[in-house]
Amino acid sequence: MKNNIMSKSREQLELYFLSINEKKFKALQVYEWLYQKKEFNVDDWSNIKKDIREKIKEDYSLDFIKIVKKEEDNLTKKYLFELSDSEFVEAVLMEHDYGLSICVSSQVGCNMGCAFCESGRLKKIRNLETYEMVEQILLIEQDINKRISSVVVMGIGEPFDNYDNVMNFITIINNSKGLAIGARHITVSTCGLVPKIYEFAKFPLQVNLAISLHASNNELRNKLMNVNKVYSLDKLLTAIKDYIAQTNRRVTIEYVMLNLVNDNIENAIELSNLLKGLNVYVNLIPYNETNHIEFKKSSKNRIMQFYDTLKKNNINVTIRKEFGSNISAACGQLRSKEVR
Ligand code: SAH
Repeated sequence: MKNNIMSKSREQLELYFLSINEKKFKALQVYEWLYQKKEFNVDDWSNIKKDIREKIKEDYSLDFIKIVKKEEDNLTKKYLFELSDSEFVEAVLMEHDYGLSICVSSQVGCNMGCAFCESGRLKKIRNLETYEMVEQILLIEQDINKRISSVVVMGIGEPFDNYDNVMNFITIINNSKGLAIGARHITVSTCGLVPKIYEFAKFPLQVNLAISLHASNNELRNKLMNVNKVYSLDKLLTAIKDYIAQTNRRVTIEYVMLNLVNDNIENAIELSNLLKGLNVYVNLIPYNETNHIEFKKSSKNRIMQFYDTLKKNNINVTIRKEFGSNISAACGQLRSKEVR
């Protein structure tokens, strides 16, 4: 099967053009057509000679995923996409005071099996191809006719379980002639696949790392997140320390607030002890209730108490603003409705 041209980094296209005895700046021209002029009909790439255009069409495809559903409220738009093999993934657009951000999916389904998460109800069917991630952004930018300035890889799937495609995706959207999204405006979130954290520390772009921690001790984390049975908290924290030492970058610790499960003051104290002295900040995430009816969102009071305890212990902490809780914004909800 042909590769989609939007799965290719600029460097890969340069090598391609050299391999067919063309100048490598053709790659730049292709990038300008795709990502700046947003002209997807290869025949209209007027500064590229016809025989080369024919060769490009022979060697690459340029298929699109399709927007099949939208749900929206004031600050949030949720998109359901259909892929060429009739699978579905979703992306969420959020309007912040600093600009538009998008949450993209990295896999069809997920195998990580977190107890509270809707995406993981449906096991992984396959990884997303690079172009299927790039197009989530392109299509939403076209739909709203505005530029998206930041990207989080926090939709359906575990990005570090699709490492190569996700890194390739980041390289493409970050390229100054690609979508030119600044590395510091790109965040990858992982449930804690430790070997990939070490690998990611060597990735050349200054992208942000977020870790879904969600528990303050192994016993609790084992109950909430299967991954902890393989990569326990101590291994995870060692990897985070290594990442910070290598990159000098601050890591985000995500902590979803589950009522009476992980939101006690004791948990906040335990968490503070785990994170003391590390260059991290904790983002407390109000739980989006799902079909996992055994989990409820923490009350405002309990969230504030948890927040205050972390503050008192000198841990940097913020509470995530809630987006789209009335439009099935919990990751995976739109897809699981569609698949059902
Ligand atoms: N697999 C990656 C990225 C996708 S999930 C990861 O685990 O980090 C993105 C974040 O949303 C994770 O922190 C995840 O635990 C959290 N999450 C999952 N379901 C949620 C829900 N219903 N409400 C709030 N956060 C949720």
